[in-house]
Amino acid sequence: MIENLRKTDPEVFLAIYNEIERQHNNLELIASENFVSPAVLSALGSPLTNKYAEGYPGKRYYGGCEFVDVAEQLAIDRVKKLFNAEHANVQPHSGTQANMAVYFTVLNPGDTILSMELSHGGHLSHGSPVSFSGRFFRVVYYGVNKDDETIDFNLVRELALKEKPKVIVTGYSAYPRKIDFEKFREIANESNSYLMADIAHIAGLVATGLHPTPINSADFITSTTHKTLRGPRGAFILTKEIYKKDLDKNVFPGIQGGPLMHVIAAKAVCFKEAMSEEFKTYQQKIVKNAKKLAETLKNEGARLVSDGTDTHLMLVDLRPFKITGKNAENLLGKVNITVNKNTIPYDPEKPFVSSGIRLGTPALTTRGMGEEQMEIIGKLIAKILKNPSDESIQESVIKEVKSLCEEFPLYKELRDSFKYESNMLK
Ligand SMILES: *Cc1c(COP(=O)(O)O)cnc(C)c1O
Repeated sequence: MIENLRKTDPEVFLAIYNEIERQHNNLELIASENFVSPAVLSALGSPLTNKYAEGYPGKRYYGGCEFVDVAEQLAIDRVKKLFNAEHANVQPHSGTQANMAVYFTVLNPGDTILSMELSHGGHLSHGSPVSFSGRFFRVVYYGVNKDDETIDFNLVRELALKEKPKVIVTGYSAYPRKIDFEKFREIANESNSYLMADIAHIAGLVATGLHPTPINSADFITSTTHKTLRGPRGAFILTKEIYKKDLDKNVFPGIQGGPLMHVIAAKAVCFKEAMSEEFKTYQQKIVKNAKKLAETLKNEGARLVSDGTDTHLMLVDLRPFKITGKNAENLLGKVNITVNKNTIPYDPEKPFVSSGIRLGTPALTTRGMGEEQMEIIGKLIAKILKNPSDESIQESVIKEVKSLCEEFPLYKELRDSFKYESNMLK
């Protein structure tokens, strides 16, 4: 298969080869990224991509769907079991589209959404003016407290009662603490709102009981499959039996055409993996590693938003190091440590500059790294940020990063096959 790619299109072959090498040669700390298993990759690269299957298992608008039906039904049954849900739709192409499908199910244009401000950890698809969600709907924002930087529930309640939002959105992209879904439910009941929990980031933790589940609190749960859940790029929606018909109609034909059957097959594989004991151990290690990394950075003088983490991610306030998020991202990138700049709550800097970086441990934990490595990496990060113009320090860190990457290799067999083929290009 790789040979065919190399022969037909050496340029794309090289782009893919270089990307696999980049993934191996860098310490990936972007909290929303992960490395899928070879089984997930096989499903993704399968001829299921050829099949049109508009509709749902057993009710398709095309013939020849008997085998893709099996794959989609497996995905549905497994994700329902994993999260103890009444109904699942596994067709959304992305987290943003999962959210869109829920909004279209419960809202009319102009209706009100109450959600977390982007700069406090919310997501673009929760009502940002640059997203469809902010163009079609009226949006009111809550945020975190200034003192302990956790969700300001007094503000949530106050806004809910005043604005009567049709839907309240919880679940975030950059919030390091556990979310009290039951408290959101109580407020939603008071304001007569639907509750949507977007667990894109924490799905793996929720599936394994390491974060409280919103299953009994939320009317709709949306999630990506590619973050802590470690599946293919994609999403799903969980809801109650009573919303099933409306929701399914709003996914297809409401906002999408034919489902990506190869991706859905890969989601099924991911859900099976997520039911295993190994996956539970993996999630436990993610959280332990995050705590260790957070503790190390604190010892090095960093300030952490909310003073720590309960999850897979942390937000580092870089102001004690007198460096911006933008510059930190660039500097760390130079030594092959990949992070993303991120606003911190009440950030004095513009979002494109920002005062923080967001770090997550799912990807490095997949590579097999543990607390010992987290301590080393935390110290390396601090060393770089404290000495932004010291090139000899940068060179020594590059060497240490390289040796960590060699000690915990990624996609070894795949990289060997690409390497073998790349020799044929010369
Ligand atoms: C990542 C994320 C999404 C969207 O995912 P895409 O697949 O990139 O559209 C939605 N909501 C939250 C909270 C996220 O973190």
